[in-house]
Formats: sequence, C-alpha cells, structure tokens
Amino acid sequence: MKAPVKVIARSLALCSLLAIAGNAFGADKVCKVDITGSDAMQFDKKEIAVAGDCTSIEVTLHHSGKLPAQAMGHNFVLAKTADMAGIASDGIGAGFANDHIKPGDARVIAHTKIVGGGQSASVTIPASKLKAGEAYTFFCSFPGHSAIMKGAFKFG
Ligand code: ZN
Repeated sequence: MKAPVKVIARSLALCSLLAIAGNAFGADKVCKVDITGSDAMQFDKKEIAVAGDCTSIEVTLHHSGKLPAQAMGHNFVLAKTADMAGIASDGIGAGFANDHIKPGDARVIAHTKIVGGGQSASVTIPASKLKAGEAYTFFCSFPGHSAIMKGAFKFG
C-alpha cells in the first residue's frame, strides 16, 4: 500500500522541478523596467532595451516630483515610433480623465495612467504585442510633454 504514495510524491517532485526549469529557460520571463518622471518634465531614461526572450515587460513609472498630476502629470505610453505624433495629438483632446489617450486608440501598445508627484503606476506589456527590430518609442502623452519626454524602446 505504500508504493502508490511514493509514486505520487515523486511525480509531484518532478512537476516542481519542471516548473522551476521552465521559468529558468524562458517559458515565462517577466522583465521589469523602472522609469522616473520629474517636475522638470523629464524622464530619467532616453532609451529602454528589453531582451527578446522576455515574455512580458512590467513597466513601473515613478514621479519623483511634488507637482500634482493636473499640472505636471506623466504617463508611460508605448507605440511604434511612427505613431507617436498622432497619439500625442489626439491625446490632447482626449482630456486628463482619459489619461490623455484617445479612448480605444489601437495605435497605443500599452500605457499607464497619469501620475503626479510621489505617485507611481505600472503596466504589463505582453511580448506578443512586440516585434523584434521594430522602431518603438515610449513617451508621455500629457499635452506638450512628448517633445521632450520620449525615448527609444528596443525589443529583441
Ligand atoms: Zn509628462
């Protein structure tokens, strides 16, 4: 009567090992990126490079300043470089309540909400939404900010 119990125990142990090995070899690799915006209307990064074996990218935006979101709000928006200007332009009319993103804008790959001083926000981007070698840009869509608050996002 003891044999079946041993078999089950071994199977469970094997499953655990496989799960650990799976994570180690990229079955599910969550890559984390931190970026900070300031009261001086600047990001602390000009470029973000993400390895091509990440299965998802968790971006956390921090606001290191003191100004409220309505005055110096920042968000993190990711799009193809060619789409940035259009998204930013439409975002002005979309208003603060919509995080200055036109609702349902299919050009937006991912974005966080707008944060003010001392706040932070995260967004997870599935790697399936990205293509290696494509030219992406991250930026802040708060009116007037994307001219300065932007950088290259590289995947792969
Ligand atoms: Zn901003």
